[in-house]
Amino acid sequence: MSNIIQLLPDNIANQIAAGEVIQRPASAVKELLENAVDAGASRIRLLINDAGKALVQVIDNGKGMNETDARMAFERHATSKIKSIEDLFHIKTMGFRGEALASIAAVAQVELKTKRAEDELGSFITIENSKVESQEACATPVGTSISMKNLFFNVPARRNFLKSNAAETRHIVDEFIRVAMAFPSVFFSLTSNGQEVFHLEAGSSKQRIVQVLGNSYNAKLVTVLEETDYMNITGFIGKPETARKTRGDQYFFVNNRFIRSAYLNHAVNAAFEGIIAKDSYPSYVLYIDLDPAHIDINVHPTKQEIKFEDEKIIYAFVQAAIKHALAQFSIAPSLDFSLNADIQGLDAVSKPFTGQQQAAAVSSNLYKAFTQKNQAHFIEPTSKAELRNWKDFFDKPAGSFEMNGDPIQSEIKQLKSDTSIPNSGVDIPDSSKPFQLHNTYIVVATTNGFILVHQQLAHERVLYEQYSQAAHSQQVPTQKSLFPITLELAASDAVLLQDLLADLQTIGYLIEPFGNNSFVIQGTPADIILGNEKHAIEMLIEQYKHFSTEIKFSKREKLIRCMAKQQCIKAGQALEQKEMTALIAAVFECNTPNITPTGSPTYLAFKEDYLSRMFGR
Ligand code: ADP
Ligand code: MG
Repeated sequence: MSNIIQLLPDNIANQIAAGEVIQRPASAVKELLENAVDAGASRIRLLINDAGKALVQVIDNGKGMNETDARMAFERHATSKIKSIEDLFHIKTMGFRGEALASIAAVAQVELKTKRAEDELGSFITIENSKVESQEACATPVGTSISMKNLFFNVPARRNFLKSNAAETRHIVDEFIRVAMAFPSVFFSLTSNGQEVFHLEAGSSKQRIVQVLGNSYNAKLVTVLEETDYMNITGFIGKPETARKTRGDQYFFVNNRFIRSAYLNHAVNAAFEGIIAKDSYPSYVLYIDLDPAHIDINVHPTKQEIKFEDEKIIYAFVQAAIKHALAQFSIAPSLDFSLNADIQGLDAVSKPFTGQQQAAAVSSNLYKAFTQKNQAHFIEPTSKAELRNWKDFFDKPAGSFEMNGDPIQSEIKQLKSDTSIPNSGVDIPDSSKPFQLHNTYIVVATTNGFILVHQQLAHERVLYEQYSQAAHSQQVPTQKSLFPITLELAASDAVLLQDLLADLQTIGYLIEPFGNNSFVIQGTPADIILGNEKHAIEMLIEQYKHFSTEIKFSKREKLIRCMAKQQCIKAGQALEQKEMTALIAAVFECNTPNITPTGSPTYLAFKEDYLSRMFGR
């Protein structure tokens, strides 16, 4: 019997490990800039050639290394930053795993020049394929200069994976900006192919943000500043006019580290709710500082995601801080919302946290206060039993709700005439003609008053129930595309979409992988507007990411919620009368007609006796 397992040679092991840390030139940029910051540099220069593919060089005036350390730095797990496992929870430096330089040395040709202030001469080391090629003393200024040449020269497969120069440069600029914004007191410059593209003098964080994001922000930033024993949050939010249609300038830094967090992003968006348009994204640069013992930064290969010991507190805190800032600057009405005292009272903090509560944390408090005081507005959810008798009708496939479908229209009419539809005390006479207000609300008379339906929210409820039903029983019919559309995605989005393909099919999307992060849309739900497929999928991914830290919902439930939100008729859209009639009929057919999946009301009912009381009758 011969054994078949053997240890990989070091250089191969290093190359494999490097895959985690160094995916593209921008990853090296991040690591090298962070090393310079960790070395206490006050001036850091980044030079790139050929989008970093030919050269990434970082020159700093930090503390430098002695001869032995200069060599040691390239060993895997060689770090000066932690010594024991406990240190992991008190980290104040950017790096700590001791793998960046080892990884870079495994996949590029590296030259290092470094000198400490107390040494006469510095060290010059060249290294390639994880092997030291030369090491000698040299004259060099205090600090470190490290050059990474010809990334992936020894791993052609990965070199071929690199994107166009424009794309790789964009990634580099992103990383550069993140580090530069995290450390405004450090000078940074970026030179690309010999041309200096950023020159950022040390200054305040506001100056740095304006330098980086552009002068147009100068008069448009609102200060955020909240300090408590547990954590501080400082930084800026853009005034509502800086909100963008695409997610753009959104930055979170936790203990000076740029992080991505759909969860915290959601907290900011929630605070902006009602202040900016629903489909736009607020701009923000927020710095959260807290005891490193309360976070775990060791959960992601490039440390772009972190874990908070108590996410709920952070969420509530961020949201409250933004609300407070908006109110202070008279951008939003000052709500009953003083941070320190009320933060514990927030539902978000005191109760188990669901997505529903997240969305409702602030907005619905207002609504509840309003409705509970004015019971006439409050509508009990319809009980399922009441609806059972005419439910079969809507169980029909092919889109139980179809905006332009005349057939369904006449069936509804017929149904309305031969049964009196029981719907949560809301009884709409046949003769009642709905009309639209501000292309957003539908007003329709009931037998004892009127209701005001929010067209978008109501339709979201309708689609949500339709998709849920499809996901659990019948598939939504697919309409084959005559001209299949190709979708090219970022790698991260591609992984996500891949994961959703099966569930998407149950709700009518036929999408096939096409290699290289591309997909082909072969079919769409029968009721989707043609020409919109690509946008629909992109939006879906965007929204899905939005909820990605919400673990309470199953993947399918999240997908359904996203789809409903995305596909519903939007506020601002003019509707024909038959469309309004169909929408109203469909919403009262729902199991829970009166609220959206996230808890916003879909309509308000005004009863006649309440109305006459209002007029003092
Ligand atoms: P980590 O940053 O996780 O410690 P790295 O592989 O990035 O691991 O670096 C290894 C070690 O090399 C660091 O711990 C530090 O002691 C040293 N080092 C790296 N870059 C510099 C630099 N620019 N100036 C001084 N020391 C550095
Ligand atoms: Mg490092």
